Amino acid sequence: MFRLPFPRAFTGIILIILVFLPAAVSARQQSNASQNPPAEHGERYDRLLIRNVFVIDGNGTPTRGPMNVIVENDRIVSVGGRGSGNFDAEIDGAGRYLLPGFINLHVHLQDSRGSMAMPFEYQMNLWLASGITTVRDVGSDFGKAERLKRQSERGTLAAPRIFIYMRAGGNTPEEARQSVRDVQEAGADGVKVFGMDRAPLAALLDEAQKLGLRVARHIGVEESDVWDDIAGGTATIEHWYGIPDAAIPYGSQSFPPDYNYNNELHRFRWAGRLFRDADPEKLSLVLQGMADAGVAWCPTLTIYEASRDVQRARTQPWFEDYLHPALEQYFTPDLSSHGSYFLGWTTKDEIEWSRNYQLWFAALREFAERGGIICAGEDAGFIYRLYGFGYVRELELQQEAGFHPLDVIRHATGNNALMLGRENELGRVKPGYMADLILVNGNPQENFKLLYPTGTDVFEEGEVRQGGTVEWTIKDGICYRGAVLMEEVREMVAEARRSSGGS
Ligand SMILES: [Zn+2]
Repeated sequence: MFRLPFPRAFTGIILIILVFLPAAVSARQQSNASQNPPAEHGERYDRLLIRNVFVIDGNGTPTRGPMNVIVENDRIVSVGGRGSGNFDAEIDGAGRYLLPGFINLHVHLQDSRGSMAMPFEYQMNLWLASGITTVRDVGSDFGKAERLKRQSERGTLAAPRIFIYMRAGGNTPEEARQSVRDVQEAGADGVKVFGMDRAPLAALLDEAQKLGLRVARHIGVEESDVWDDIAGGTATIEHWYGIPDAAIPYGSQSFPPDYNYNNELHRFRWAGRLFRDADPEKLSLVLQGMADAGVAWCPTLTIYEASRDVQRARTQPWFEDYLHPALEQYFTPDLSSHGSYFLGWTTKDEIEWSRNYQLWFAALREFAERGGIICAGEDAGFIYRLYGFGYVRELELQQEAGFHPLDVIRHATGNNALMLGRENELGRVKPGYMADLILVNGNPQENFKLLYPTGTDVFEEGEVRQGGTVEWTIKDGICYRGAVLMEEVREMVAEARRSSGGS
């Protein structure tokens, strides 16, 4: 039989301590903790408390905190202070970082790729789970985009807020002016321009200025270059081509005789030699011209990365559970799918593209130093880029370009809000601003990989564990839990794979 080592009376005292001590500790903890219920996925609250959190604002200033942030309905009402009180719900921010929601300045709303359908919810969930609370659509079906925009505004669809930049163009100045008036008539937020000759482009930019519509321009290798945008008042240059193109010593880039612009393999292969062919002194003049004219640059570094390392692009770990079969099919090399040009891609191609990236990084830094505005966008759905994951990669690449993480965060929030003309209500953690906020488990300045919806390895106290992710994305005051959004994505992908007969 088991015998007590202590006299009975002494045992009784120990039992009393064991029974009452935890109760005493938990009572003390409770006086520090709140009585407020925890926030729930998909809910908006009259009064929400985000407690004890470190705050990184969207204006480039350093981290502050820990502090409390209070949200009422869809607005931030208070930033600072440490007290508690009665709230409808609470999010524990201890050890976490609160940032303005990211703005993704270059997206295409897509409900299919190639011939295969894909639900809009797939895109929306991936964006929200990556901390993206606003997107600027620069080319999709306008009617569908409008419906999604209204659903997002009403809060009936879990989605970022949507700005629609509608395509305009024309072969003559008259056609170009009319197309801008059509964009305004349709109620779009701005104009997207792609592939235009000089004279109609000048008329288009002039008409857009008159109507107060901002222009986002994707310059191809064409008659015009970024000097036309400097003269005409374009808001943002998408990607990069027209910038080094304006600094070629004379006329054409050194294309080989068999070059055909309509062959995507030719086009992307020689794009990787474009910065090399530009004259550095001329390039400096171009960059200064853009900065002086207030023409911002949305480089979308992320969307070309496969060109410098196609194996990395094809084997991204999140493809296993989160790559929709429509995208999988679309990414398969085939010259009829835009951006799927990896047919016989060579070591030499990758080396040229790596050099192109180095020159591109240097140009971005020089542009910023000369006073230029840099933005952040993704362009996913092409070239092995998955929505949201592609945006986080953009932040990593901007850091690789030489920008401090705080400046990268500013590009992704405050600068992007400025380009949308919404700098007074988006892109900051500030009273009066829209409650578009993200709560990151960890410090994104230390490692942007923490923002990936699948998280990343964290090495602490001799142990590797899975860390990170955006735990909460709050848009218009509605709280979305990253893990729930990603579980839904996983289900959508599994279901699509089952019905398409894939693995
Ligand atoms: Zn695009």
